[in-house]
Amino acid sequence: MCCFPQLKVLITREEIGKAVTRLASEIRRDYQGKRPLLIGVLKGSFVFMADLIRHLDLSLEVDFIKLSSYGAAKETSGKVRVVQPLKTAIKGRDVLVIEDIVDTGITISFLLDYLRKKKPASLKFCSLTDKPSRRQVPISIDYLGFTVPNKFIVGYGLDFNEEFRYLPDICFVED
Ligand code: 5GP
Ligand code: MG
Repeated sequence: MCCFPQLKVLITREEIGKAVTRLASEIRRDYQGKRPLLIGVLKGSFVFMADLIRHLDLSLEVDFIKLSSYGAAKETSGKVRVVQPLKTAIKGRDVLVIEDIVDTGITISFLLDYLRKKKPASLKFCSLTDKPSRRQVPISIDYLGFTVPNKFIVGYGLDFNEEFRYLPDICFVED
């Protein structure tokens, strides 16, 4: 159930919970004996990342980076900037980037190039959702929760003009 009439539930909290458990077991298997640095892309990934790390059962570190390209718009401007840099040196680290959604791919493509230049030991990418219908830059996602249709989604960390991040289900805004 969603308490806002203009919103429809796309992915329930139960489905999200199952996906988080599955992703955590894939990540745990691949990072055995390592101490990865998980980098959350602010703000959208924070709810997902908070749930994911509590299922990982691994020693790990977290950091956050904030990028900007959208402002208050629904469409990317195509230009990405680092608005809040990392606090952690990533040279030689096993880095796993955590995103809420890949849409055009412009944001994550910029970020992976930016991080690769800092010479991590390894660099992988986990996204809760993927909207492949709008892709402009090819992206390979190592750990993926859900493929979503071409709709603007909110909830579970994802916002519309800073609203709806607190919804426990992933919903879409009806046209
Ligand atoms: P991209 O650069 O791949 O086009 O966009 C990535 C970023 O745009 C995401 O991290 C997210 O912040 C935002 N975004 C793209 N699609 C959606 C969507 O359907 N809902 C929300 N809330 N944000 C989106
Ligand atoms: Mg994001």
